[in-house]
Amino acid sequence: MTQLVYRPTPPAAVGSDLGRISHWIGGRIVEGTSGRSGPVYDPATGRQTRTVDFASAEELAEAVRVAEAAFPAWRATSLSKRTEIMFRIRNLVEQHRTEIAAHLTAEHGKVTSDALGEVARGLENLEFACGVPHLMKGSYSEQVSGGVDVYQLRQPLGVVAGITPFNFPAMVPMWMFANAIACGNTFILKPSEKDPSASMLLAQLLTEAGVPDGVFNVVHGDKAAVDAILEDRRIKAVSFVGSTPVARYIYETGTRNGKRVQALGGAKNHMIVLPDADIEMAADAAVSAAYGSAGERCMAVSVVVAVGDVADPLVAAIKERLPKIKVGPGNDPDSQMGPLVTREHRDKVASYLDTGREQGAEVVADGREHELYDGSGGDGESGGFFLGASLIDKVTPEMDSYCNEIFGPVLEVMRVGTYGEAVQLVNDNPYGNGTAIFTRDGGAARTFQFEVQAGMVGINVPIPVPVAYYSFGGWKDSLFGDLNMYGPEGVQFYTRAKVITSRWPDPGTSQVDLGFPRTR
Ligand code: NAD
Repeated sequence: MTQLVYRPTPPAAVGSDLGRISHWIGGRIVEGTSGRSGPVYDPATGRQTRTVDFASAEELAEAVRVAEAAFPAWRATSLSKRTEIMFRIRNLVEQHRTEIAAHLTAEHGKVTSDALGEVARGLENLEFACGVPHLMKGSYSEQVSGGVDVYQLRQPLGVVAGITPFNFPAMVPMWMFANAIACGNTFILKPSEKDPSASMLLAQLLTEAGVPDGVFNVVHGDKAAVDAILEDRRIKAVSFVGSTPVARYIYETGTRNGKRVQALGGAKNHMIVLPDADIEMAADAAVSAAYGSAGERCMAVSVVVAVGDVADPLVAAIKERLPKIKVGPGNDPDSQMGPLVTREHRDKVASYLDTGREQGAEVVADGREHELYDGSGGDGESGGFFLGASLIDKVTPEMDSYCNEIFGPVLEVMRVGTYGEAVQLVNDNPYGNGTAIFTRDGGAARTFQFEVQAGMVGINVPIPVPVAYYSFGGWKDSLFGDLNMYGPEGVQFYTRAKVITSRWPDPGTSQVDLGFPRTR
């Protein structure tokens, strides 16, 4: 078993000495040489706790060289050996889940229970990838012509890369690398520079599980590292999760450079509540899905569409729940909602409360009135990037708050007269990630499922993130590419088909034939 060589500095031990986070290349820590780095904050205090090295194009190229060198042996490693390693990764991640979760809380800010939930959803992908011998099975057709058989194999692509967002620093990398390496590829992860430590712990656990050096690498950085990934012709495929403008850029640049690309973007997830819905259940679901993880989830409910006379009682039921949400540091067991990831992001989110009010919406709850909100630039009592649960009613489609993805604890309510207007609103929105309907009417739910333009649909389920044996992906501006992430489509993405047509020599039937090969 490989000796442990590194653990990122535990958050509690950081104190005034800033920990430095460097790259993981070839099974070891490699300090950055570009001279560029970025700050990592504890969002609950607003203090910088670490710095993270930013890779140059040359450093990225070296990681690709190492990953490329590791590929031949890894793809030739037997399926049973790769499966054994995947099981060990799964078990180590499970054993270290609280430690991974602590890194998520320390750098992203999410509360411990939510961080543990993130690790659990990531684990599902490792478990799925443990079935790789089954997932990579090909197909075989005997006697397609006299003495001729045809069969199809799936083979790995080579070096592949994943570029991930700040909001799921452990789960989204697992969405990608679990299938990628199980299928025999070697992997370069470029995590978000805002919360990079979890990826280093994962890298260490993979090495401990027996993943050979060079098969899994972590290169930190910003746009320079991303551009180097997109330009490097040795990288065969790129998986991306992040905001829509960057997703579009990644897709266009990556495909122009001959890569396979799946680029998942932003979202504006509508939850339609029909007049027959159970108001209390709908309010519980809306509050859980809008404010969990401080709204920093791509599947968060960001808009409630209230149909008919459900609006007044529903808004009242949501409003009544907001003061009970315990906002506080993620590592406080009593906290239900932590801070936002950075001060800039928190301020941007809060600004939609002003534009909403200016443009005629009704701000029912303003999270800046929360005691932990600190708009003083970090000198106030908490210093953290907190914003309380906020609610804006009577939002209309042209308002800034509706036209943009807010990605914070601001829930919007739109009022419409009919189911038809509600579904039209969802279908007219440029995003199509997730959506949900709350109703007791099976026929209405069935119609909604049939006609709504979104990739993931919940029926009385507010956050319909598919389990790992389905695949995840939105429609419209929420996904650029042809294949969804993880699950069966993930396996397809990280492998390519090879079809073999075979005949064993039979001297008795051999003859010269210049005609085009036909089945006989
Ligand atoms: P982001 O787009 O700012 O960053 C994502 C990644 O791209 C990071 O690794 C970052 O370093 C890199 N990046 C940022 N700007 C870049 C640029 N100009 N050129 C090249 N690379 C760049 O996203 P974020 O703020 O980290 O994450 C939040 C966003 O991610 C939200 O829009 C959210 O909806 C989306 N998201 C989508 C899904 C999904 O499955 N569709 C899941 C999670 C998050």
